[in-house]
Amino acid sequence: MPAHDVIIIGAGLAGLTAACVLTESGRTVTVLEGSRYAGGRIRTVTDIATGRALADLGPTWVWPTYQPVVAAWLHRLRIATFPQYDDGDGILDGWGAGVERHLIPGQAGIARVVGGPGALIAALAARLPEGTVSTGRPVARVEEHDGATIGVGLASGETLRARFVILAVPLRVAASTVALPGLDPALMSAMRRTPTWMSSQAKAVALYDRPFWRAAGLSGRIASRNGPLGEAHDHTPHDEGVGAIFGFVGWSPSQRRADPPGLQRAIVAQLGRCLGQQGERPTALHIQDWATSPFVATAADIDELPEHPAVGPTILRTPQFDGRLLLAASETSHVSPGLIEGALAAGERAAQQVLAMSSG
Ligand SMILES: Cc1cc2nc3c(=O)[nH]c(=O)nc-3n(C[C@H](O)[C@H](O)[C@H](O)COP(=O)(O)OP(=O)(O)OC[C@H]3O[C@@H](n4cnc5c(N)ncnc54)[C@H](O)[C@@H]3O)c2cc1C
Repeated sequence: MPAHDVIIIGAGLAGLTAACVLTESGRTVTVLEGSRYAGGRIRTVTDIATGRALADLGPTWVWPTYQPVVAAWLHRLRIATFPQYDDGDGILDGWGAGVERHLIPGQAGIARVVGGPGALIAALAARLPEGTVSTGRPVARVEEHDGATIGVGLASGETLRARFVILAVPLRVAASTVALPGLDPALMSAMRRTPTWMSSQAKAVALYDRPFWRAAGLSGRIASRNGPLGEAHDHTPHDEGVGAIFGFVGWSPSQRRADPPGLQRAIVAQLGRCLGQQGERPTALHIQDWATSPFVATAADIDELPEHPAVGPTILRTPQFDGRLLLAASETSHVSPGLIEGALAAGERAAQQVLAMSSG
């Protein structure tokens, strides 16, 4: 079977960014995605009838003023942002006997993507030739085949060969689920040490007919010692067609796994306590537990306290296997590792490395 030009493993933001840059440079790309959908840690729930983005179950925020790579890609993909809603008082829950209204300052430059970060995934995927991305195809092995190609073994038993491979999979997931015989042990060790940002977290989004808290002078912001949501924010879509609140679940992965209905009840009760009776009546409650995804979280991520990845060692960005294997998850990035900005930068960098190797 003839070798592929470039195989990208992982259709998250980094993998799709690399695919887009390479395709636009005339390269032939195949993206193999292990799960059933593209986007990885980015998941935006949309309303089937209206197409409206309702809930970001992965990332929500970008900071285009401070993130030049994000700003450039938003411009290129013609995607707009809007400010995070922060007008009015926040709610402190668990600092006194009851809940208290309190001004909780917002962050400068914090913005949301119109259509949610899923709009980035959709826009990148739309730039690729049909059939570029194959989902439900987990990769189990990557190794040097001969001096000119890399072997990519799928969990199904099928083996493909490619001139270049970009491994755009969270580093710990790759180190623990993909056999990488012959890879530099120093790189393997760096991969195992690098936490996957937010992989142990769960996020909840409650939807309402409208953002009723705004009329009461509330920002939707909640800081809570009681939980289950440790912090919550207004998550109303840009067109304000519905109201929404999102929060990070403070329960541990094992507590969440032990009692999902109990978690739902406790979240709804908290929203009632903090936002008033209407808070107890969401029209929908979406909960995404990332710790349960084998494509995102490893045992090491779940056992450790969450830690934002620092910029990792240069070896994470150094081509391997004679320049034919590149790593590209967000956590490999030299800027904003772990964030959307990092994923875009890492995908771009890996693609440029392939182009440089091919011309050299
Ligand atoms: C709850 C949450 C909140 C966040 N909030 C923010 C935020 O507000 N702002 C921000 O900037 N960032 C945020 N992030 C981080 C942001 O989502 C990530 O930086 C970004 O999505 C990472 O993209 P990636 O392509 O590097 O990795 P991923 O999105 O993890 O993509 C990797 C892909 O590889 C696939 N894969 C894994 N193993 C295999 C295999 N063996 N074979 C084939 N495919 C495989 C996975 O299924 C996945 O699709 C958040 C993340 C989470 C989970």
